[in-house]
Amino acid sequence: MPKPKTPSLGAALPSIIAILKHFWPYLRSQQRLLWTAFLALLAETAMRLLEPWPLKLMFDRVILPGFQVESSGIQDLGGLSPLVALTVLSVALVAAATLRGMFAYVSAVNMAVAATHVMTDIRSTLYSHIQRLSLSFHNQAKSGDLITRVTYDIERLREVTVVAALPLLTNVLTLLGMVGVMFWLNWELAVIAIAVLPLFLITTRHMSNKIQTVARRQRKREGAMAASAAEAIGAMQVVQALSLESMLEKSFAKQNQKSLKESAEAQRLRAGQERLVEVLVAIATALVLWRGVQLTLQGTVTPGDLLVFITYLKVAFKPMRQLAKYTGQIAKATASGERIIHLMQIEPDVQDLRGAIAAPAFRGEVRCEGVTFAYRPEQGILRNLSFTVAAGQQVAIVGPSGSGKSTLVSLLLRLYDPIEGRVLIDGHDLREYTLASLRPQISIVLQDSVLFAASVRDNIAYGNPHATDTDIIAAAQLANAHEFIEALPDGYDTQLGERGATLSGGQRQRLAIARAAIRDAAIVILDEPTSGLDNASEQVVTEALHRLTDNRTTFWISHDLCATQSADQILYIEQGQLWESGTHTDLMQLEGRYAHLYRLQNQPSSGWAIASNS
Ligand code: ADP
Repeated sequence: MPKPKTPSLGAALPSIIAILKHFWPYLRSQQRLLWTAFLALLAETAMRLLEPWPLKLMFDRVILPGFQVESSGIQDLGGLSPLVALTVLSVALVAAATLRGMFAYVSAVNMAVAATHVMTDIRSTLYSHIQRLSLSFHNQAKSGDLITRVTYDIERLREVTVVAALPLLTNVLTLLGMVGVMFWLNWELAVIAIAVLPLFLITTRHMSNKIQTVARRQRKREGAMAASAAEAIGAMQVVQALSLESMLEKSFAKQNQKSLKESAEAQRLRAGQERLVEVLVAIATALVLWRGVQLTLQGTVTPGDLLVFITYLKVAFKPMRQLAKYTGQIAKATASGERIIHLMQIEPDVQDLRGAIAAPAFRGEVRCEGVTFAYRPEQGILRNLSFTVAAGQQVAIVGPSGSGKSTLVSLLLRLYDPIEGRVLIDGHDLREYTLASLRPQISIVLQDSVLFAASVRDNIAYGNPHATDTDIIAAAQLANAHEFIEALPDGYDTQLGERGATLSGGQRQRLAIARAAIRDAAIVILDEPTSGLDNASEQVVTEALHRLTDNRTTFWISHDLCATQSADQILYIEQGQLWESGTHTDLMQLEGRYAHLYRLQNQPSSGWAIASNS
């Protein structure tokens, strides 16, 4: 397998610029913090450059005041006595270090706070953007990938700004400053000091690449380990039932061992790199001293100047070692930035059209005119469907599994738009209305209703954010749910487990019915709401459903043709086509597909299985 190369900062530069441009409005809102951070950073750099100067002056003006030099440097201490000068310089030494620390603190804190603000804003925007993206997008996107972008990618960008970009900037500025000062003091020594740089850059870069390759492999392995552990722990029942424990343990232990080896390898490489840097610093120091002492003896530079050189070398090499690491981190984090931007640039397929208006309160007449739909171009899920449903009618949608029944009702909610034809409510195309005014006017109960990890009260109120407590209780009563809710430990305030895991199937459905009822919508969609319930629960739920749908236009998808006999209109759909429509009596007289299916279901030996598999 080819080794992935660490992206270089140069190659990532266009992406970095694109990211900065895209996030500019967010950055601008934090201007004050960012400017403060930058100014503090400049001050910190200045202090770093100044740090060896008291020492230099002590040498040149206090210890060796008679030393004759031609070169630059501060020559005059303003006539202070040696002791006073020494004291002043000692204080200056402490002051420079303290100020440097303070400025570093101010810049780090401001930068961190700004980055956190920016990323929090971006995260909120991204989250609401994802929620607005169409189902056609979500059907294809991997939810894990989206979650990664909202959490990990954003966190990585934030972290890299603080732990890599800021130090990188500080180091680069410090290096430039030091090189400038060195040239100012003595160009020849400066050239010698800088001569080691290329060697240094090449070796550290090479080693950093190696370290990163190992580290990346290790991270990948850890990710795989976490995934397989999560999979096994999430399916413990199956694991134990199939006695897979020892097999899974073995494969986990193997991965774990490999991770250990890689971790040790990375540590070894890091330690090696540190030692190499020390040798390089020694070489540079030796070269500078070799020539520097000669120049000092010739009187071209002062001993203090030499001290400044040596100190700069020591100080400069340390952060340089991290340059490769920082640039690598930044370059890699640009991938995170790109992923976020890419997601943000996806436009929802289904969105308010220009000129969309708020829908008036619906009466509930629904008409489909030549509706054709497919999830993907090559498919044909619904073909040229046309029918009219009068306001308040009870409509049963029946037909074999996979024939397009759920797809049809999702078009009513405008979760998708038809490819051809149109869906009209009260004579108006759905697309004339805003989504925010359309969807709240339609209630829905699905086969497996999703409840959220919130209180029972909130779960019902999700149906209508303006609902009062009285509305919530009335809805629960309508849904045959009030009594069991009262019997829960905290009544309406009982917190539900994830996906309502703490309730029985029938109870969950009744909460879903309450949630649908509280909308008081003109149109109700029921997608096999009683499937999978035992007889007793089904009876209670069906009773609640009848109350919910009373006097409302209702689309009831069901496999149970007995339950739907009494519908005002039955739509028989197969392979995306509307084959027959009419009342039960009409369709039985027609002796077509519906009548055939009905007879199959009502033979003594038949039942659900035939209906759902036919
Ligand atoms: P029914 O409700 O009658 O069982 P559906 O409307 O759920 O049928 O599905 C109709 C067809 O559309 C099936 O072949 C199904 O595989 C396909 N389908 C359903 N949902 C999607 C989707 N989100 N993306 C792609 N194909 C889908």
